[in-house]
Amino acid sequence: MIMKNIHEDRIHIVNDTDCDENGKYILYWAIKSFRAHWNHSLEYAVGLAEKEDCGVVVCTHLENTQNHLTERHIKFHVEGLQDFKNELSDRNIKFVFRLGSASDVFKDLLKDAKAVVSDFGYLRENTSVTNHIHKTFSSKLVLVESNVTVPVEGVSDKQEYAARTIRSDIMDAYQDYLEKPTSSKVPKSTLNYSLDSRSIDSYQSIIDDLSFSEHTNVVEEYKGGHSEAKSKLDYFLNSELNDYDDARQSPTDRSVSEMSMYLRFGHIAPSYILSRVESRRKTDDVKSYIEELLVRRELTHNFVYFTEEDYDSLKALPDWAQETLDKHKSDEREHVYTRSELENGKTHDEAWNECMKRMRETGYLHNHMRMFWGKQILAWTNTPQFALSTLLYLNNKYFLDGNDPNSYANALWIFGLHDRAWGENDVFGKVRKMNRSGLDSKIDVDKFVEGK
Ligand SMILES: Cc1cc2nc3c(=O)[nH]c(=O)nc-3n(C[C@H](O)[C@H](O)[C@H](O)COP(=O)(O)OP(=O)(O)OC[C@H]3O[C@@H](n4cnc5c(N)ncnc54)[C@H](O)[C@@H]3O)c2cc1C
Repeated sequence: MIMKNIHEDRIHIVNDTDCDENGKYILYWAIKSFRAHWNHSLEYAVGLAEKEDCGVVVCTHLENTQNHLTERHIKFHVEGLQDFKNELSDRNIKFVFRLGSASDVFKDLLKDAKAVVSDFGYLRENTSVTNHIHKTFSSKLVLVESNVTVPVEGVSDKQEYAARTIRSDIMDAYQDYLEKPTSSKVPKSTLNYSLDSRSIDSYQSIIDDLSFSEHTNVVEEYKGGHSEAKSKLDYFLNSELNDYDDARQSPTDRSVSEMSMYLRFGHIAPSYILSRVESRRKTDDVKSYIEELLVRRELTHNFVYFTEEDYDSLKALPDWAQETLDKHKSDEREHVYTRSELENGKTHDEAWNECMKRMRETGYLHNHMRMFWGKQILAWTNTPQFALSTLLYLNNKYFLDGNDPNSYANALWIFGLHDRAWGENDVFGKVRKMNRSGLDSKIDVDKFVEGK
């Protein structure tokens, strides 16, 4: 039987046992999908609860010390949790949020769980949480892939070389994965269970209680949460999608969806976005959006999933790119900047400095400028190794959509991943080069620098 209309490829049974008959509820430990809408993992937990005639408790945590999140991410994330909690409450589901390490923060909840459901994360910090649950919880444990349209292994069983090698398979497959999971109110409420939970009313008080390895200001321009994601999507589909194919080439045109940060925090489901886009007439704009959201985004998940430990390392590059970068690593650079000069936008190039300014101030940058921004880091630092670590440092610190599979695959794209060899140049070798004169020929740089 297909539970809750969830495609079976999404479901990974980790502990294939019965539910614990002494347990009190089904525990959904959310690590990537912070929404009650179109959340296959949550609905799977609800389906199990209906079978077991019990309630559902949803929990999530933050580690006390943050390596990849800064203050701006916490604000955005907590705004998402506030929506999530309200939506769960309407469905009789208790929400528990705590600060602490994965290994001990929910010991009490695990003890009383009949079964644990979690969503499927791809980065190290996600898999380490699920590995921990696996080690300590012996009853039924199920992971459900809810943050990609096509489950990674549903389309390929290996690391794909480039978009061209995954495109036709994923385009053939995706219609089968646009299923809307059936959603229902849980008959047995857990709302009155007495379970300690940290308040999420104030993101500032949560920020105050965490320690961070890096600091940023919070960004007012973007508000997190499912309701915000949904209204932004409605606006994009009604007013801007018709201009998307041109807009994605032009950083001074804001007709892009700005969905990446909501996808990063699981505030909206990619398959939901796709099902909305899919219902439109297949114009070039629609085709182009599907290319980005489905082919390009899911290629990055394929990359992180199959490279495992190396997804943030030059070792993950194809051989030709490693060889050519190594051959050119001692080439003389026209400009060399320190990490701090780059971070503070103190280079000779005002377009590049404007990119950094937007990142620092708004946490967002148009894709075209991200390409230019990243390629100059390779050009202006003393080794490819240092270039990658600097690029990832700035990317994950400032972008609201940072530290996502998209971050790592796109950072490595700067160094040749998912690309082919081009003509040989200094520093870049055969890796595709982008420079300021190329940018000037493609976009209105003055307009961009003026902040438009
Ligand atoms: C150096 C560099 C660093 C990047 N860092 C990140 C990052 O940290 N996080 C992140 O999510 N994206 C990153 N990208 C990819 C891309 O720039 C952003 O996803 C996109 O600009 C987000 O804006 P949007 O939501 O308005 O995109 P739209 O143009 O509206 O596209 C819709 C969705 O398609 C997906 N998408 C678009 N472009 C790409 C792409 N090139 N690769 C994969 N998926 C894509 C995203 O999920 C996006 O939300 C990076 C690109 C480069 C070149």
